[in-house]
Amino acid sequence: MQAELAAEVDTMNEAAEGDGKKKVVVIGAGWAGLAAAYELSKQNDDFDVTLLEGGKSVGGLVAGWLTPGGRPVEAGVHGFWYPYRNIFRLIEDDLKIDPFTPWTQSAQYSPNGLEVISPIFQNMPRLPSPMGTFLYPSFLRLPWFDRLTALGLLASVVDWDNTPEAWRKYDKYTARELFRMMGCSERLYRDAFEPMLLVGLFAPGEQCSAAGALGMLYFFILAHQADFDVKWCRGTTGEMIFKPWVQRIEENGAKVLVEKRVSDVEVCPDTGRVVSVSCGGESFPCDAVVSAVGINGVKGIVRAAPGLSKLPFFSKMMNLRSVDALAVRLYLDRRVRIPYQSNACFGFDKTTGWTFFDLTAMHDSLDKSEGTVLEADFYHADQLLPRSDQDLVAKVQGDIATCVPAVGRAKVVDYSVVRIAQGVTHFSPGSYDSMPTCETPIPNMFMSGDWIVNDHGSFSQEKSVRYRGGGGQCRSEAPGRRSRQQRHPVRRRRAAHSSPEGGERSSKTSR
Ligand SMILES: Cc1cc2nc3c(=O)[nH]c(=O)nc-3n(C[C@H](O)[C@H](O)[C@H](O)COP(=O)(O)OP(=O)(O)OC[C@H]3O[C@@H](n4cnc5c(N)ncnc54)[C@H](O)[C@@H]3O)c2cc1C
Repeated sequence: MQAELAAEVDTMNEAAEGDGKKKVVVIGAGWAGLAAAYELSKQNDDFDVTLLEGGKSVGGLVAGWLTPGGRPVEAGVHGFWYPYRNIFRLIEDDLKIDPFTPWTQSAQYSPNGLEVISPIFQNMPRLPSPMGTFLYPSFLRLPWFDRLTALGLLASVVDWDNTPEAWRKYDKYTARELFRMMGCSERLYRDAFEPMLLVGLFAPGEQCSAAGALGMLYFFILAHQADFDVKWCRGTTGEMIFKPWVQRIEENGAKVLVEKRVSDVEVCPDTGRVVSVSCGGESFPCDAVVSAVGINGVKGIVRAAPGLSKLPFFSKMMNLRSVDALAVRLYLDRRVRIPYQSNACFGFDKTTGWTFFDLTAMHDSLDKSEGTVLEADFYHADQLLPRSDQDLVAKVQGDIATCVPAVGRAKVVDYSVVRIAQGVTHFSPGSYDSMPTCETPIPNMFMSGDWIVNDHGSFSQEKSVRYRGGGGQCRSEAPGRRSRQQRHPVRRRRAAHSSPEGGERSSKTSR
C-alpha cells in the first residue's frame, strides 16, 4: 500500500516473526476496503493482508447477490462518471476486463412527464466550463430566465477551492441557503438542483451542507464539460467487477474473509498502537489496520473499543448521522420500450429523490428476455422504508408509469426490495469538523471510504477507491509536500496512477 503505512509498519515491528511479512488487517470490503487490500496485496513480499468483511458478501453498498429463485439483486444500480479515472484505470489497466456499457444519455422526469434530456457531453463541441453543462441539456419546460439564474452560482464556484478553510466556511450554511444567496430562482432550484442534491448527497437542500453541495457540483458538473457523462455495468457490479477483483487479490496472496464483523480494535496502552482486531471471540494480531467501513460500522467499533473511544478523533464521529436508501427491482411480463436507460425523477415524494433504470437495456444477460426488468432506487428514503414490499412494488410501478405510461399496463411477475437502513453518510451542515481524516492519532491505523475528509469533492465509489487505504496517499498528494512517494521511483508511479481531479486524463477512446 502506501509509503506512510509501510513506514509505520516498519517501526512497529522490527523483529517480525515467521516469514518476516508485516500483518495488515483491512476492515470492510466495499470499494474502499477492496482497494486498500488490493494495493497492499501487490506488495506481497512485504505484507500479509487480511480483509475482514462483516456481511455475507463483498461489495458494501454495491454488493449484489442472487435471490433463492436465482435472480440477481443489488443494493442500488451504480453509475461510473467520466472523472472516475482511478476506477477506469483499475478496470482497464489492472484487471483488463470490459464490464461497462457505452456512455449513455439520461433523462429527468417529474409528475408532469419528461423534463430534461442530457446529451453525451464529450460528443458536443467544447465550450468553456461550465457553459456546456448549462447550455447543452434539452430542458423541455424550464424557462430560459430560470436557467440563467444559475450564473449567480459561479461566484461560489470561483471561491470554492476545496481546502479545509473553504469546507469550514461553507459547511456553516445549508445548500438551500447557498442557492438562495446566489440568486438561483425557486424553479431552477426545485427542478434542477434539489434533484441533484437528493441523488448525489442523499438529502434535501435544507438538510445538506453547502460545502458538500459545492464539492459535489464541482466534481460532477462544473469542472469539465464531459464530467457528467456516465456509463453503467452490463450486469451486477458484484459479478462483473468484484468477482474478478477479489480473485486477483487472493491470487496476490491476501485473505478475503466474509462474515467477520469486527467488534473491537485493541490498542496497546504503552505504545498507543493497534495490536489486534477482534471479531467476536476470534482475534487477528496485526502490525497495522485500515478501517474502510461506513459511519455506522465505525460507530459500532468505537463504542466497543475503549482504546479508540477515549480519543476525541474517534468519539467525535458519534456526532455524524446516516440516511436510508431503498432499491426496488421489478420484473414485468412483457417488453416495454423505455426511452432512456437511466432516469432521475423529482417532485414525487417531498424530501426523497429517486432514479429508475431499464436493466433490460443495460444488462447483457437480459438482452433476450421476454419481459422488462426495471430498478428504482430511492435516496433519503427514510419515510419509505417502513412500508410493506407489496405497497412499495405498487408505488414503484405507479411512479414509473407516470413517466412511461406503458409500464402501468404490464404485470409485475417478480420483484426484489432491498432496504439500506442508515447506510449512507448524511453530509449535514456542521458535520465537517466531526469527519475523520485518512490518518488517525494512532500511528498504525488509517481510515478510508467515501466519507473521509480529503481533497476529493465527490461522495462516490471513485472517492473510496482513490484513497485506497490511508495516510500515505493523502500525504503524498498534499500540496507542496515532498513525500516518500515522490522520492521512490516505484511509489512515484503509484502516485501518478491516482492523479487528482484536474490531472491528466486518459486518452483512451472507451471513455
Ligand atoms: C442506492 C445507492 C446508489 C448509489 N449510486 C451511486 C452511483 O451511481 N455512483 C457512485 O459513485 N456511488 C453511488 N453510491 C455511493 C457508493 O455506493 C458509495 O460511495 C461507495 O460504495 C462507498 O464504498 P465504501 O467502501 O467507502 O463503503 P461501503 O460500501 O459502505 O463499505 C463498507 C463495508 O464495511 C463493512 N462493515 C461495516 N462494519 C463492519 C465491521 N464492524 N466489521 C467488518 N466489516 C464491516 C460493510 O458490511 C461494508 O461491506 C450509491 C449508494 C447507494 C446506497
